[in-house]
Amino acid sequence: MKNIVLFGPPGAGKGTQAEILKKKYQLVHISTGDVFRYNIKNATELGTLAKSYMDRGNLVPDEVTINMLNAEVEKNVGANGFIFDGFPRTPVQAEALAKLMDERESQINAMVALEVNDEILVERLLERGKSSGRPDDANEEVIRERISEYYRKTDILKEYYQKQGKYFGVDGVGSIEEIFERLSEVINKL
Ligand code: AMP
Repeated sequence: MKNIVLFGPPGAGKGTQAEILKKKYQLVHISTGDVFRYNIKNATELGTLAKSYMDRGNLVPDEVTINMLNAEVEKNVGANGFIFDGFPRTPVQAEALAKLMDERESQINAMVALEVNDEILVERLLERGKSSGRPDDANEEVIRERISEYYRKTDILKEYYQKQGKYFGVDGVGSIEEIFERLSEVINKL
């Protein structure tokens, strides 16, 4: 059983890589951003709340996000393991995830981080915005706010996992296949 946190700033390629990794390793992929977008599309109460933060490029409050993540994990009791994509994004979320894994007599095996420099991130997200339909990809100011939010609140999680000997950085620039190979090399050794 492997539980992996796929980490990196917005536009690092987490979603793309998670889609192929989940097939290779038979893991359940949970993207908190995708769950929020699903709720927005279906006009749920959670969606309305999340949208007010997402459209500005800010993080949704921890309590709301953690409750949602717990429910997603609960839906997959028999899972072989999980790829967490876009979660945790704060130290409070990381603690909640550790507790949740503990309750399931499991643990996070690794945080695998895609490393990409900021200007490439902005370029990629603007490009993605042409077809993704995501309002938060359509505007450079919002994109830059998402990256700032990452440095303010999320980047510190590297240290959290480093202290536990669970942090692995991977060069996130290259073709999808090249990056997939780099990630697989790390995951195979877990
Ligand atoms: P993503 O799809 O991962 O780029 O997330 C899109 C947006 O959803 C983020 O900019 C946040 O507003 C919100 N979001 C996704 N995951 C989280 C999280 N773990 N904590 C707080 N907000 C989140």
